Amino acid sequence: MDKANLKIAIIGAGVGGLVTAIALREKGFNPQIFEMQEDLKEPNTAITLFPNAIRLLKQFGVLEDIYDNGEVVNHFILTNHKGKRLYHLDLNHEEIKPVSIMREYLYSILVNKLPEGTITFNHALREYNQLEENVKIMFDNNKLMEADLLIGADGFKSRVRHLMKHEDAPDYHGYQIWRAIIDSPFPDILERGVHHFWGRGKRFGYTPLGNNKIAWWASSRESLHRINHMNSDRKKKIYNYFRNWAYPVPELIKATEEDNITKAGSFSKPPATTWCDGSVVLIGEAAHSVSPNLGMGISLAIEDAIILTRCLERYKSVPDALLYYEDARIPRATAVTNNILYAFKLSHLKKPYQLLIRDLALKYLPKKFKEKKIREFLDYNAFAEQI
Ligand SMILES: Cc1cc2nc3c(=O)[nH]c(=O)nc-3n(C[C@H](O)[C@H](O)[C@H](O)COP(=O)(O)OP(=O)(O)OC[C@H]3O[C@@H](n4cnc5c(N)ncnc54)[C@H](O)[C@@H]3O)c2cc1C
Repeated sequence: MDKANLKIAIIGAGVGGLVTAIALREKGFNPQIFEMQEDLKEPNTAITLFPNAIRLLKQFGVLEDIYDNGEVVNHFILTNHKGKRLYHLDLNHEEIKPVSIMREYLYSILVNKLPEGTITFNHALREYNQLEENVKIMFDNNKLMEADLLIGADGFKSRVRHLMKHEDAPDYHGYQIWRAIIDSPFPDILERGVHHFWGRGKRFGYTPLGNNKIAWWASSRESLHRINHMNSDRKKKIYNYFRNWAYPVPELIKATEEDNITKAGSFSKPPATTWCDGSVVLIGEAAHSVSPNLGMGISLAIEDAIILTRCLERYKSVPDALLYYEDARIPRATAVTNNILYAFKLSHLKKPYQLLIRDLALKYLPKKFKEKKIREFLDYNAFAEQI
C-alpha cells in the first residue's frame, strides 16, 4: 500500500475522527478530515477517559496535557438515592488512572497534534458512490472529491451509515438527560471521584473536572412526548425530581444557572452488524452508538481508531484491511454496548421489588463477580489485540 499517496477522507472531526487522523499520520498515511460545522464548536460537556483509551493516547504524547487539563478519577462510587453505598471501585492503585476533562480541552489537545489544514470545515457529506477503484464523495456545498478510503466518523446520526445501510433514524429509548458544568460550590466533593446515585426511574451523577469545575448529569424515564415539552422552568422541574436525594444532589442543581442546563433525549441504535462496504468504513458512534451512561463511548471510538490503523498498516488492500478491522471490533463493541445498555436500564428501574433486588445484589454480590465486566472493559489493549 502506498501509504503517503492513499487518499483517505475522514468524515467528522469528533474524537473518533481526530484520533483516527493522528494514528494514521503516525504510521505515514496522509488523511484529510471533512467536518460539517464551521469550526469545532463544543457544547459545554465533560467526558471521562478510561484506561483502555488512555493507554492508546499515551502513544501520541498527549497524556501530560490531558492530565494537566482534567482531573484524575481515583474512585468510582455508586450509592442509592439516599446516599447509601452500593459499590465502590477504588482506582488509586490502577496503573493508568481514568481522567475527567472538558470536551473542548480534549478537542484542542488532539487538534494540536495535526498539521494545519488537516481539517476542512463547512463540508457536510451528502452522498458517496462506490466506484470500481475508489469512492466518489459529494458534499452539501456541491464540492466533489474521490478517495481510496472513506471513513465515516460522523457520529450517531451518521450519514455514511445511513447511505451504507439504508437504516432509519436512531430509536428513542425512553430517557431524558440533563447536564451542566459549574464551578464547584462544595470543595469536599472535588475529592470524591465519579459518583453515581441510582434511584427509582431516575439517576444522578457528577465528576470533578479540574480547575474547581464539576460536571453533573441527571436522567429520568420520560416519554418522547413529555421531553418535547419540558423546556421552560427546567431547573425547577429537575430540582423537584431530585430534591429529596442525598447531598450534594439537590445542592448542585440549586447552584446551577437555568441557562447552563442542557437537555437531550437518549437515542441509540443497535451496533451495526457490518461496518464496511468496499472502501467505506464506519468508526465510533457511527458504528456503535452508546447510550450516554458511564461515559464509555469515546473510549470505544479511540479503540476503533487504533485497530483500523493497525489493519490498514498490515493488510495490502483497503477492502481486506476493513474486513479484518470489522472482525476485530464488532464482538468487542457489541459486548460493551450491550453491557452499557443493561446498566442504563438497571439504573432506571421503577418497581420497588426490582429496586430492592438490584440494590441488594450490588451491595452483596462478591466483588470479583461485580468487577468482571468492568475489568474486561478497562484492561482491553487495542495495540495487543490480534488482528
Ligand atoms: C449527553 C451525552 C453525554 C456523553 N457523555 C460521554 C462521556 O462522558 N464520555 C464518553 O466517552 N462519551 C460520552 N458520550 C458519548 C460520546 O459523545 C460519543 O461516544 C463520542 O462523541 C463519539 O465520538 P465520534 O467521533 O464517533 O462522534 P461525534 O463526537 O458525534 O462526532 C461526529 C462528528 O461528525 C460531524 N458530522 C456529522 N455528520 C456529518 C456529515 N454528514 N458530514 C461531515 N461531518 C459530519 C459532527 O459535526 C461531529 O463533529 C456522551 C454522549 C451524549 C449524547
